[in-house]
Amino acid sequence: MKTIGLIGGMSWESTAEYYRLLNEFTRDRLGGLHSARCVLYSVDFAEIERLQVEGRWTEAGEILAEAARALEAAGADMVLICTNTMHKVAGQVEAAVAIPLLHLADATAEAVRASGVRRVGLLGTAFTMEQEFYRGRLEEGGLDVRIPDAEARAIVHRVIYEELCLGIVREESRAAYQKVITDLVAGGAEGVILGCTEIELLIAPEHSPVPTFPTARLHAEAAVRASLSDEALLGAQRSAASRQ
Ligand code: GLU
Repeated sequence: MKTIGLIGGMSWESTAEYYRLLNEFTRDRLGGLHSARCVLYSVDFAEIERLQVEGRWTEAGEILAEAARALEAAGADMVLICTNTMHKVAGQVEAAVAIPLLHLADATAEAVRASGVRRVGLLGTAFTMEQEFYRGRLEEGGLDVRIPDAEARAIVHRVIYEELCLGIVREESRAAYQKVITDLVAGGAEGVILGCTEIELLIAPEHSPVPTFPTARLHAEAAVRASLSDEALLGAQRSAASRQ
């Protein structure tokens, strides 16, 4: 089993979810008392959020790059940035270490494509919805990405920072998100990417008329697949040998 390195705390509400999911997926794959081998470096989100607002992305990237170096030194075999937004500095993080970065947009694009959906709505922070670093990567992955209008984007963004990152889940915010999703579907979206790792704490599959793509879950799944790829290979070889 390879060791999964997590850069978390952005916010810790979704990082706690990553930790649970990694362990559940590992137990489901290997059974018994198996759990995920992982190392977590959790940052102070207030510091990161201030740098985001002030547009000081390179400084934020240096904090995450330092976290990645620490994970590598602690024995991590791969690194995950546990937030869509901070993939804006994925290049800086990737350049800081020799271990691979498991990019969240790639894991997401793969899952969307596998489901047969091509035209997909994207919900996330304003940075994620409006800037190229994330949408562009999804589009390179073969998807036609649609985002909400400006007013809806402001609502989606506000709920993330003022509620979900603080562990607040409100029924009226769920209703507001459902309206945004309905509008995206009316505009042709065949599925919706929950492109902020806290949104899946608010929106479950039953809250949407089209398939949802919860990015923390998809990222954790991809990490467990990467972590267990050797075991899966060995398992397949063992069963092939036993059939001979
Ligand atoms: N966790 C969120 C995301 O996936 C937002 C928090 C952040 O700004 O990193 O984008």
